[in-house]
Amino acid sequence: MPRYFSYSHSTMDLYDVIIVGAGPAGLKCAEVLGGSPLRVLLLEKNEKIGPKICAGGLTGKDVAYLNLPEELIEFRHNKIHLHVQGFKSTVKADYDFAFSIDREKLGQWQLKKLSPFKNVEVRTKARVSAITENHVTVNGETIAYKYLVGADGSNSLVKRFAGLKTPAQGVGIQYIIPTDKYSDFEFFFIPKYFSAWYSWIFPHRGYVSIGCGCTPEILSLKKLHRNFHTWLKKNKIDVSAGKYEVFPMNCDYYGSHFGNVFLTGDAAGLLSSFTGEGIYQALISGEEAAKTILDPTYESKKMPEIIRKHNRHRQLIDLLIRWGRWKSLLFLGGMLLFKIPKYKQRAIAQFG
Ligand SMILES: Cc1cc2nc3c(=O)[nH]c(=O)nc-3n(C[C@H](O)[C@H](O)[C@H](O)COP(=O)(O)OP(=O)(O)OC[C@H]3O[C@@H](n4cnc5c(N)ncnc54)[C@H](O)[C@@H]3O)c2cc1C
Repeated sequence: MPRYFSYSHSTMDLYDVIIVGAGPAGLKCAEVLGGSPLRVLLLEKNEKIGPKICAGGLTGKDVAYLNLPEELIEFRHNKIHLHVQGFKSTVKADYDFAFSIDREKLGQWQLKKLSPFKNVEVRTKARVSAITENHVTVNGETIAYKYLVGADGSNSLVKRFAGLKTPAQGVGIQYIIPTDKYSDFEFFFIPKYFSAWYSWIFPHRGYVSIGCGCTPEILSLKKLHRNFHTWLKKNKIDVSAGKYEVFPMNCDYYGSHFGNVFLTGDAAGLLSSFTGEGIYQALISGEEAAKTILDPTYESKKMPEIIRKHNRHRQLIDLLIRWGRWKSLLFLGGMLLFKIPKYKQRAIAQFG
């Protein structure tokens, strides 16, 4: 049974759980709480649920976990192309392991799953502007909570309320270009442009996401932007019809459970500093927060796994950064390792 907190909430509306943010984490959390005896309020600042600056790339494990309907998968492939300093290598398996989805469609699909639940109320155009120990302020209204779930992404207000900072905020930039020209997933590791990170090409239905990421402590946003454009020009990629997008990436994880406050997904800093993936971690942490609220004795097995992987990725990126101008050698070494079936299988298993 959930824990209850005693305090006076006078005339304020009271919910058992308030979830701030209806991205993958918040929607998953609401879905797991759906049908329970708890009164749940999901607050989203945008008018439409789903759209988010994101390349929309998923791995096999994400797709299996979500049990996505076929029509939501835009591209699927059993191979990816890796480029390191002008060398190209293709990693191929006998099953599909790289997928792309449209974030708006994913959000709308997750939202639809909430419709049977009478105990879950969803409000859009509902930006949480202030938080205290027992209530949130939304469009001037104060609403009380027993449990608060921060699913409000990389610029999380709930994370700041929990007293946590995000010193190493990364950034992702991309062009969304309307075209059917691309059909393969490609990664470009070029340290002189992207330091320890990479640029990507992810095909979608009718458009492509071409982008890159970095942390401003290594490359300022201005420099990353300049390098990205030099790389685009060198590769003769025309972005004139594209939409330019920039968004923070929070990879600083310090915990996800603080009394009656939970942090999930990007709000918790669970985004990978190595790959830039965050959808899977958002879904799992949303689910596990809900399960802990429903049963405070619940011991999550999935969260420790995610955190271990998160820490491994942090160590890998730190190692790459320390290698300075020699990183290319590490990337080339990695690419050669993929030629050995055992290592290739391991690398693909990270996706699958
Ligand atoms: C350029 C780029 C490319 C990426 N590509 C990939 C990829 O290919 N694959 C992958 O797995 N991950 C990718 N990511 C990461 C992925 O987008 C995130 O990890 C994922 O969206 C996290 O989900 P979330 O639910 O935690 O947060 P979000 O998806 O950010 O959702 C947070 C929600 O909270 C709402 N919100 C925020 N503040 C408030 C407030 N005060 N009140 C009410 N609502 C609020 C927002 O509007 C939003 O809807 C990428 C990120 C970037 C920036």
